[in-house]
Amino acid sequence: MAGMELRALRKSYGGLEVLHDIELSIADGEFVVLVGPSGCGKSTLLRMIAGLEPITGGEFRIGGRRMNEVPPRDRDIAMVFQSYALYPHMSVARNMGFSMEIRRRPAAEREGPVAAAARTLGLDRLLERFPKALSGGQRQRVAMGRAIVRDPQAFLFDEPLSNLDAALRVEMRLEIARLHQRLGTTTVYVTHDQVEAMTLADRIVVMNGGVIQQVGTPLELYDRPANRFVAQFIGSPT
Ligand code: ADP
Ligand code: MG
Repeated sequence: MAGMELRALRKSYGGLEVLHDIELSIADGEFVVLVGPSGCGKSTLLRMIAGLEPITGGEFRIGGRRMNEVPPRDRDIAMVFQSYALYPHMSVARNMGFSMEIRRRPAAEREGPVAAAARTLGLDRLLERFPKALSGGQRQRVAMGRAIVRDPQAFLFDEPLSNLDAALRVEMRLEIARLHQRLGTTTVYVTHDQVEAMTLADRIVVMNGGVIQQVGTPLELYDRPANRFVAQFIGSPT
């Protein structure tokens, strides 16, 4: 079980609180999409879940276990960013296996998971290439491969498709949906693309100014937006 509990979660930078009392339960296997305007705290929330930002207040649990003080490498969570940040001097295969390499898994044990992830993402024939010889879409696949290779308890995506052109964005969105169907891994996905939110999400979390405005299925938010802000964001006819 790898559901998540966010209880009265707060974040301050200096003296300024940017996330206020965030309450959210995410079920095991659920695909939750965070939406909201720039600066509302989406990335900060993901980074707290990943362990990349200290939690100022409240509690964060995965599978019932308190995670507040657990360092990122012990969280068993994989994060995919919009800038794919592959290691330029490493082959695709080594990039994909690197998280196992830093955990001292021997090369023989890394090959199987890397090959399986490469098959899943159609990267079989690119394993010996270096990042500079890949297209944007292929790099994005490698970044996703690097995440799935570890078979983590959860995936975090921070606007993973926003650097891609429109056609590739559609293709990768379908790929992410397929991956989730296949792996069923608990996912928290940040986007400001309505279509991505409406098509990928089991539930959407609408944020503004460091607070959650509404949580619901795409249909619930569309049919019964809690306020004008949600209605405008979701694009429902009010
Ligand atoms: P979003 O991802 O929704 O655009 P962020 O989580 O990046 O929003 O930012 C939320 C708020 O926190 C913003 O007001 C931003 O300026 C502030 N913030 C983010 N990171 C830092 C930081 N490292 N130091 C100070 N303030 C930050
Ligand atoms: Mg952000």
